[in-house]
Amino acid sequence: MSEWLFLLLPVAAVSGWWVAKRGDGGQGVPGPTSDPAFFRGLNYLLDEQPDKAIDIFVKLAEVNDETAEVHLALGSLFRRRGEVDRAIRIHQNLVSRPNLSKEERGYALFELGQDYMRAGLFDRAERMFRELMEMQLHRKRALEGLREIYQQEKDWARCLEVAEQLWLLTGESVGAESAQYHCELAEESLKAGNGQQAATHLSRAQAMDSDCIRATMLQARMAMSRGDSRATVALYHRLARQGSQFQPEILSELVDTYRRSGLEDELSELKRLYRAYPSPALAMTLTDVILDREGNEAAIAFLIEHITGQADLAGLERLLELYGPKLTDDAQTRAAFDATLAVVGHLRSRQPDHQCEHCGFVARRLHWQCPSCKYWGSIKPIQPEPIGNRAPAPPTAALPEPH
Ligand SMILES: [Zn+2]
Repeated sequence: MSEWLFLLLPVAAVSGWWVAKRGDGGQGVPGPTSDPAFFRGLNYLLDEQPDKAIDIFVKLAEVNDETAEVHLALGSLFRRRGEVDRAIRIHQNLVSRPNLSKEERGYALFELGQDYMRAGLFDRAERMFRELMEMQLHRKRALEGLREIYQQEKDWARCLEVAEQLWLLTGESVGAESAQYHCELAEESLKAGNGQQAATHLSRAQAMDSDCIRATMLQARMAMSRGDSRATVALYHRLARQGSQFQPEILSELVDTYRRSGLEDELSELKRLYRAYPSPALAMTLTDVILDREGNEAAIAFLIEHITGQADLAGLERLLELYGPKLTDDAQTRAAFDATLAVVGHLRSRQPDHQCEHCGFVARRLHWQCPSCKYWGSIKPIQPEPIGNRAPAPPTAALPEPH
């Protein structure tokens, strides 16, 4: 479906309003919906010929300057074609008309708000959406517009207010995004050195969304920085349980905690964690520890087991590197092996790290809000594909709850 079709929604709504107005005793009122040219314009939109539609609406607007719906359609078309200044002029003229009905004014304010958003004039867009809220018109779309503005401005406290209003208005869950706003506020508090306030925001995040991985991750980092090893390990286990694919984000810090604290045996603890929540990042870390403690053969055996059934290129590359010294000195064997390792290394370096589950956007690093579709929490580390019919291994060990 073309984006032009979306334009028909407000146009159709205005047309419906016009028909209803005529049916309510407005018979005989001349308007564009009685003009066949208006429907020709709509047909051009359906046929994805916006330029022809614009020509028709411009002529209609010249013939009858009072018709709001033609100006609304024209303004939207200009904005979608990137001519935001023209769209703003048309919608500003509409809004300034004293004889505009409440409904027409509502549509014009919303369109003008959209124009200002597109032009990056957020303060003006905010005024349009606030006025719509006061008029009790298009409240859901006005709140969504306000939410977008406050997200752009990183005004997380206001994002929380708008999310609550959206929830009251629509009944749709806003827990996951509200939890993210609290996490943003927690990060700001941490930067300002206010750990207590950060902890309060993280508790609120978890009250909003008990599966909020980001809140657990921040709590683990806070526990690490205050040297509370026991809480760090427990929070890491909770993180692995909530989303094992997120382990790479704080894995190296966890290993440091093991090493510094001496609380647990690093090797047996990592093995236990891997059995319960296997992930490629954990396999790489565990390989290094096995290599250090148990030697080359044990590390190779572990990696063979790890990549059996899953196309983990990083695991394969590491296996080949460890296996290299075991090869014979036969020149052709060595050449074939080096070529294989080079191909695997090339493929792995081109492999994306993270992907949005909602829109497919590929990223090199973890973003909590997708830069493309603006969804929260939808970007996740990419996991290797299973080979054959092997399903991902289920957790095999019960892990303790965090304190
Ligand atoms: Zn996305």
